[in-house]
Amino acid sequence: MAEQEASGLQVLLSTLQSSCDKDVLLNILSVLTDLLSLDRKFGIKVQKAEATDVILSLTRQNLGHHLNLTHCLWVLRVCASNVAAGTMLGINGAMELLFKVITPYSKQHVRTVRAAIEALAALLKSKSNSRQAVNRGYLGGLLRLYQDWHHNDVSNNYIYIRRGLLLCLKHITNIQLGRETFLGSRGMEILFTSVQDCLSCKNLDPIVTTVTQILRKCYPKEPLPLVTVRSSYSFPLPGNVKTERPCMGSEDDNESDGEEDMETDLNKDDVESKEEDYDLETDVNKLRSRPGLDRPEEELGQYEAMCPELSLNFQELDSESEEEKKSEDRTENLPSTSSHFIPSGNSVKDPNCRWRTQSGTEAGSDPGEKDFKVPLQSSAKKEKCSRSLIGEKREIVETVQNANSYEEDPAKSDTFSPCPLPKEAAWYKKIFNPQCEASIDPTSGVRSETSEIMTKLLEEHQGNIPFHSPHFYIARAKGTKSIPAYRDLAFPDFWGHQPPPSCKPMLERQYGVQRDKVLDDVRRLIQPGDLIGRTVFDIDEPSHSSPGAPDCLTFFSKFESGNLRKAIQVREFEYDLIMNADVNTNQHHQWFYFEVRGMKLAVPYRFNIINCEKLNSQFNYGMQLVMYSVKEALQGRPLWLRAGHNISYYKNHYRCSAAAGGARGKCYYTLTFSIEFPHEDDVCYLAYHYPYTYSAMMSHLDVLEQSRNPKKVYWRQQVLCQTLGGNPCPLLTITAMPESRKSDDLEQFYSRPYVFLMARVHPGESNASWVMKGTLEFLVSSDPIADLLRKCFIFKIVPMLNPDGVINGNHRCSLSGDDLNRQWLAPSSQLHPTIYHTKGLLYYLRSIGRAPLVFCDYHGHSQKKNVFLYGCSIKETLWQAGCMVDTAVITEDVGYRTLPKILDKVAPAFVMSSCSFLVEKSRESTARVVVWQEMGVLRSYTMESTYCGCSHGLYKGLQLGTQELEEMGSKFCLALLILHLKSLPCSKKVMAQAALLLDLDEEITITDRAQRLEVPLSSLP
Ligand SMILES: [Zn+2]
Repeated sequence: MAEQEASGLQVLLSTLQSSCDKDVLLNILSVLTDLLSLDRKFGIKVQKAEATDVILSLTRQNLGHHLNLTHCLWVLRVCASNVAAGTMLGINGAMELLFKVITPYSKQHVRTVRAAIEALAALLKSKSNSRQAVNRGYLGGLLRLYQDWHHNDVSNNYIYIRRGLLLCLKHITNIQLGRETFLGSRGMEILFTSVQDCLSCKNLDPIVTTVTQILRKCYPKEPLPLVTVRSSYSFPLPGNVKTERPCMGSEDDNESDGEEDMETDLNKDDVESKEEDYDLETDVNKLRSRPGLDRPEEELGQYEAMCPELSLNFQELDSESEEEKKSEDRTENLPSTSSHFIPSGNSVKDPNCRWRTQSGTEAGSDPGEKDFKVPLQSSAKKEKCSRSLIGEKREIVETVQNANSYEEDPAKSDTFSPCPLPKEAAWYKKIFNPQCEASIDPTSGVRSETSEIMTKLLEEHQGNIPFHSPHFYIARAKGTKSIPAYRDLAFPDFWGHQPPPSCKPMLERQYGVQRDKVLDDVRRLIQPGDLIGRTVFDIDEPSHSSPGAPDCLTFFSKFESGNLRKAIQVREFEYDLIMNADVNTNQHHQWFYFEVRGMKLAVPYRFNIINCEKLNSQFNYGMQLVMYSVKEALQGRPLWLRAGHNISYYKNHYRCSAAAGGARGKCYYTLTFSIEFPHEDDVCYLAYHYPYTYSAMMSHLDVLEQSRNPKKVYWRQQVLCQTLGGNPCPLLTITAMPESRKSDDLEQFYSRPYVFLMARVHPGESNASWVMKGTLEFLVSSDPIADLLRKCFIFKIVPMLNPDGVINGNHRCSLSGDDLNRQWLAPSSQLHPTIYHTKGLLYYLRSIGRAPLVFCDYHGHSQKKNVFLYGCSIKETLWQAGCMVDTAVITEDVGYRTLPKILDKVAPAFVMSSCSFLVEKSRESTARVVVWQEMGVLRSYTMESTYCGCSHGLYKGLQLGTQELEEMGSKFCLALLILHLKSLPCSKKVMAQAALLLDLDEEITITDRAQRLEVPLSSLP
């Protein structure tokens, strides 16, 4: 076959060389063109047959015959699309030849000119041709030709010629020499200026797009405007561990081969899924192995104290609950002031102290429990969440609002009425103006002054935000330890957030936003006279900041979970912002949370966060950031809202350098957005996602503990361990109190299966905390479903696995600079105490035969929509990897699919089709995989909640708010109850209660339980 082709080709070529007949020539040429375009390998054959010489000489001969010439050029173009053939053509002088054909603007022979330009563009895909072209000065020639056609083609008749010339420039500038020469030839100015005429005409989009691609690529690379990219905050690690953590693999700068289609370069899913397949664990023995303990067995004994429920003496229980009542009576008489101090702040031991020293307590009393007695405010009435059924949340919110009111005035307490702004608008600013305070007195007096203002603020607070108490928040925040020693509270965390009544649709992607932003960035280079370039905020060099300068916003980020390192005013209403790296690292920039003040009304401010690292972002797919306005809050609308328009996320011209302490050549990305603030001279907060601080969590637990009904809800809050930063990491136990002291009831109490939940190992994933908040509120609520659920399970919950990361504004890591969810195989008791002890507790439960029925770690997912689970399955992993598996030999309980299937039915944000049950090599040290493998937990999951919104179901097209995230947390509880009914034997009584409460369809009947594990294999992907 190949021989036949080759000989056929020879015949064609010799006919070409000898033929004088015009028609024959044209026919042969068009046959050649067709053959070449059909068969990619034909290019190689052409090269082997030395056809390139024939075609070149034929082209030369026909320079005067435009029709023949055009056909020759088409053949040339197709030949050149094979890089090897193209290179050969280049060596043999094809480019000189083409430049003879490409003329300045003319209406003559445009077809021929077009063919020549397209052939040249094809040739310039070869790097050696590009180099040759630059050396011979063709780049300048191409620029001049482009300018000429651009100026003269006023009616836009020859767009394809102009675009063709741009493609030549685009290919030439793929090489370094090309970019340098382009810059030296004023290419940036020429293209930038010319493209301005094209922006308003939709027909010219291909031109604008290509110009923008060239401008982006050629924009001179710069380091970030930072002395070092290492975090502003460092933390000395215990022992001899170096604080300098190795930085992770850098991505190569692919600029030179870089074909980047701006508006369409974002479909990387295919690439990702292929990479995922390579990452699958295919070693069957490894998948089936059960590794031994990672520590001496004797150590497990200490965790007995963390399961006091298993040795409870109910005599004690009774007296305890009476004591609780007494203490409530006592605390209700306390005066309401803002100066309560939480003992936990004092009791925090030195960072290196070990859990063991903390937990050496006698049986029956809970270590750390004393830390959690928070005095109640006189106005803080017992908050009872009288939820009816899950789902009817509106009603619930109202009920809670009423029950929850801190106001004594009944007229005020019922309504959500706006309160007038205080006359001196400056008073609330004062609290949040640290520079001003610091100048008065940097060491003392600050607190007393602010507490006065706080008291005033607290008087204004309507207390109608469910499960939030500003009193508790202040008290908890005082005990929270941070590296920068925060002295200021962010207003939203203190004041609270009330979810808006409905969620906002995803932002529609407007055409051309990205290119407009990029052109605006290029303008900095072309018209530097416009630039201000003033650093207005810098946590590394506070003296460089110019707070309160006229015509300039004021930034601030030194508060819990805050993250903003530097702000540079670029133009009057445009700021470049730089995020801080995770403590002790030089990377993981994604989470931001900062305050901004001094804005004008009705002006769109543009913000560019210029050191993002991810290749892509949901900000390109409809996601908005969140904003909180203090003025709005004081007028009765205390809420985080999705905000920002003209949002785009793209690779910028900043590159990391080794000199700045980073991975050389690593690319950065810009997140750009515009904001119009709702009020003049307001104090606003902007964040990546709804913030949820450690102090918020701690104060939330305080409120929850007090809101529960102690007769029904068993609640224990213990300290799992101290973090490196000296903050207690709470561990919760929640279940139902036994019905009575009868032995049957006690037996039922002790034998309830465990459910183990945790969240926020990744500090930037605040969505996980909101989901956890929903879970906790439901679990302690008086909802009859919650009541039943508590009777079915004992819940062990670590609501925040990485308090230090959350507090210090990290995105991914702990103070050791490690991703804690990659430490589960062998956590260090010194460096990863929360992981070490959570794993220890799980080991302990396993050792007493009580490994949890369900384990779930709540996370947030920045690249995907919806909420979904990751689980573990040997069979699915092997199938996905294409391994031949004898399914008869490997037996696997498919019960891991039940919970996600239930969630798919009961939780509107949840999507089964996004779930995955594959075990990846890169995930072998995550909680999910380790708990599945080492603890033998079949239902071991990661629950991923989107930062963005949903593509399916009830919330399709909407961005999730905190209410929907919390709902997810409560629906997770409901799903657990259904799972129990489906998968475990339960008493007739429970079934009867469940049948009453749940609208049981056939699926949740007892017969279904019998066949619970018989999911047909055909239903698996
Ligand atoms: Zn995560």
